[in-house]
Amino acid sequence: MARPYNFAAGPSTLPESVLKRIQSEIMDCGCGYSILEASHRGAVVMGMIRDLRARIRSLLNIPENYDILFCPGGGHMQFAMVPMNLLGAGTLSTYIITGSWSKAAAKEALRFGRVQTAYNGSGTRVPGDDEIEINPETSYCAYCENETVHGVEFKVPPSMEATPSVPLVADQSSNFLSRPVDVSKFGLIWAGVQKNFGVPGIAVVILRRDLLGLASNEVPMMLNYSVYSRSESVMNTPPVFALYVSHLMAQWIEEKGGLEAMNRLAIERSTIVYDAIDSMPEMYTGHVEKDSRSRMNVVFRLRDEQLTPVFVKEAAAAGLVNLAGHRSVGGLRASLYNAMPPEGAVALANFMKDFAHRHPLNVTVPVAGGN
Ligand SMILES: *Cc1c(COP(=O)(O)O)cnc(C)c1O
Repeated sequence: MARPYNFAAGPSTLPESVLKRIQSEIMDCGCGYSILEASHRGAVVMGMIRDLRARIRSLLNIPENYDILFCPGGGHMQFAMVPMNLLGAGTLSTYIITGSWSKAAAKEALRFGRVQTAYNGSGTRVPGDDEIEINPETSYCAYCENETVHGVEFKVPPSMEATPSVPLVADQSSNFLSRPVDVSKFGLIWAGVQKNFGVPGIAVVILRRDLLGLASNEVPMMLNYSVYSRSESVMNTPPVFALYVSHLMAQWIEEKGGLEAMNRLAIERSTIVYDAIDSMPEMYTGHVEKDSRSRMNVVFRLRDEQLTPVFVKEAAAAGLVNLAGHRSVGGLRASLYNAMPPEGAVALANFMKDFAHRHPLNVTVPVAGGN
């Protein structure tokens, strides 16, 4: 039986070849027993972690003055680790708010000091550089590059030209390894891996080395980036299975042609679904301004909101699963991460057309200039 296309926002779809490789290796990872049974300090696991780090460095072309850490605790732990480690002796951090994830990050930072909001948006677009005002006294400026819930994505990072000494911090959880990145523009990039690069359990942290060692003595060992750096991220027993799946994902991305190819595919997939929305304005609508549309999370609604549960149910019956929007915004959301084949986007667009034919409109349509 064919597997459905899974549009879940995270944990999310994995390439079939990666799942099959997990299946084939789970009893014996090549050493006679399972990687799930191997010591985290043995050659198999340490070798895999070093190789994973090398592959991430090569995929993103990460300069040598950046370290690559693997931290347990997922995205929310980074919301705390960033201020705990980067505030240093300072008391002020800066956040660019573009949706619910950057808002959550700023809220957590308030536990550790003052927070300046450099831009406060409502989740419909990302700001232009002229709309962002960064206090030069701040310890760092954080933003979320792709808002998974609202479906807005920065095309390029905010410019730090006016405040070049302020480290830029990016949450790339939901667009990690989906396009080439100029890492030298950042002080720190982090990403929970369960959206685009594996299964829950770790966040990848890419950190300029001069930002290590700023945490105070009160910061617990497990929340201190320096401890991860010194121990090659094996201070204690790490989540080996999550590291193992990301190791397979890195190889899969390389086989597919690297980050240029990931970006081409991401644009192809998302364009197919946005074109479907735009071609049926009487049926579907999106709240995100076109220039800010995410390549990863296509968020849209039916004009007749009462049809939303019907859409979700009929789509699932047609093999297109997990299309309901986030509980906080409702509507529909199609997450189109690295592992989603373009055929999945085509199948969704065809279903949207078919659904529109089968459920003729019973609401009034705005005449012109709809969004
Ligand atoms: C999912 C997500 C998070 C939260 O990740 P958890 O691992 O569930 O804590 C944070 N930021 C972004 C952009 C996300 O997509």
